[in-house]
Amino acid sequence: MTTAPLHRLSALAVRDAVARGEVRASDVAEDVLGRIHGLDSKVRAFLRLDEDGARASAKAVDAKVAAKKPLGRLAGVTVAVKDVLCTRGVETTCASKILRGFVPPYDAHVVERLRAEDAILVGKTNLDEFAMGSSTENSAFHVTANPWDLSRVPGGSSGGSAAAIAADFAHLALGTDTGGSIRQPAALCGMTGLKPTYGRVSRYGLIAFASSLDQIGPMTGDVRDAALLLSVIAGRDARDSTSQPAPVPDYLASIEDGVKGFRLGVPREYFPESIQPAVRDRVRDAIDVYERLGAEIVDVSLPHTDYGIAAYYIVATSEASSNLARYDGVQYGIRADGARSLVEMTSRTRTQGFGPEVTRRILLGTYCLSSGYYDAYYLKGLRIRTLLRRDFDSAFAKVDAILCPTSPIPAFKIGEKVSDPLSMYLCDVFSVTANLAGIPGISIPCGFTAERLPVGLQVLGKPLGEETILRVARAYERETDWHLQRPPLD
Ligand code: GLN
Repeated sequence: MTTAPLHRLSALAVRDAVARGEVRASDVAEDVLGRIHGLDSKVRAFLRLDEDGARASAKAVDAKVAAKKPLGRLAGVTVAVKDVLCTRGVETTCASKILRGFVPPYDAHVVERLRAEDAILVGKTNLDEFAMGSSTENSAFHVTANPWDLSRVPGGSSGGSAAAIAADFAHLALGTDTGGSIRQPAALCGMTGLKPTYGRVSRYGLIAFASSLDQIGPMTGDVRDAALLLSVIAGRDARDSTSQPAPVPDYLASIEDGVKGFRLGVPREYFPESIQPAVRDRVRDAIDVYERLGAEIVDVSLPHTDYGIAAYYIVATSEASSNLARYDGVQYGIRADGARSLVEMTSRTRTQGFGPEVTRRILLGTYCLSSGYYDAYYLKGLRIRTLLRRDFDSAFAKVDAILCPTSPIPAFKIGEKVSDPLSMYLCDVFSVTANLAGIPGISIPCGFTAERLPVGLQVLGKPLGEETILRVARAYERETDWHLQRPPLD
C-alpha cells in the first residue's frame, strides 16, 4: 500500500486500491475535498462543488465493495467536469451570465458514462464563457490562476479543468476542445490533455460552441490515465448522429509497446521564428528522446498551416452565431426585466447575458454567414479546411504520428492579452489545425522554461489513431519525470 496522499495518486492507482479494499472511496473523496477547500481559494479552478453528490457516490462505492459487488472502471476516482457539460440537478452555466440558474434535467452522455463506472464527480470547473478563449479570463464569474505561477493564466478554455489536475483537486477531468481548449491549457499547466478524433466521443449534453469542431476529451495527470478515461467515454451514442460506430479498443492494452520502428513526422511549419525559444528547445529535446528510443524522425510539410487560424475563426464563429441563437430569454437561464415586446426582451437579455468576447464572435459569425459574404468568407473557410485535411492525409501516408509544439508560448500573465483579441487568437496556431481536420491530438509535459513554466509536446495522429498517439506519448513519459513534478502550491 502506498504512503502518498490520496489526492496525489493516479486514477488507476486509486481504482485498484479501492477495488482491493485498501482504501475507502469515502476517504478518497474527503481527502480531495479537503485539498480543494485548502487551496482552491488561490487557484479558483471550480465554479461549483457538488460535495453532497461526491459523498453519496463515494458511499455507494464503499457499499459495493463491502457487498463484494462488481465495481466500475473508475470506482472511487474523483473527476472534475468542465461547466459546459450538462449535469443533472447541478447548475451548468458555461461560465456565462446568460445561463445563470440553468439546472439541466439530464446528464451529458460522458457524465452518464462516468457515473456508470462508479466515478466520484466533485464539481464543475471554470472556463472561458461558452469555451471561447485561450486563458479562462473570459469567464463571466472569475479568473483561474495557473498553479505553477499564480500571476499567470492556466490557458483556456478548459483552464479550470487543467488547473484542477495540476493542483491535485481531482484525479481526472473532462475538457472540451474546439480549437485547442484541452491541449493548450494542458501544455500551460504541465499536465496531459487528449482531444479525440471528431466523433469518437458523443457530444450529447455538451453545450455547443462550434458543432463540427467540438470534441470532449480527458485531462489527466499522466498518459495512462488519459487512456483509461478515453476507454470509458468513447463510442457510439445514438443521440449524437456524428458519433462514430468504430469499436472502442482498450487504450491501455498496447500503451507500453514503445516507438521502435515508428516513423514520426516533424512538420517544418510548426517551428516558425515567432515561437518562443524555450518552447522550441524543449520540443526539440523531446524529439531527440524519440530518436534514442528507436523511432525514425522524418521531416514533413503541412503547407496550409498558415491559413489555419483564419479558417478556424471563420468556421467557429459562424457555427457559434447559429448555436447561440437559442439563448433568447425564453427557454434557458436569465430573462431581462422591463421589456415591452418580445424582440426587446430577447435583445436586452442577450445584451445583459453575453460577455464581450461572445458578443464579438456572434457578430463576426453572423457577418460571415450573411448572404453577401457567405461565399467570400464561410465557403472559403471550408475550402481551407479541406486543404488542411489533405495536408495531414499526405503526411500520414509517410508517418505514424506527428510531433510538434502544442502552444507557441508558455503561460502568460493574467491581463496581458485581454485587450488584444488577435494576439489571444494566435495562441491557437498549432492546435486549431487538428480540429479543422478532425484528427486526434495529445499534449504532454516536456519540460520547463527558465522561469519554471511548463512546456507541452503535441502528438497528432490519423483519424481514430488514439491508440497510436497514446503509445507514442507514453513512450516519452516513461523516459522522463515531468508528469510527476508538482507546482509549489502548498
Ligand atoms: N482558443 C480557441 C478559441 O478561442 C479554442 C477554444 C476551444 O477550443 N474551445 O476559440
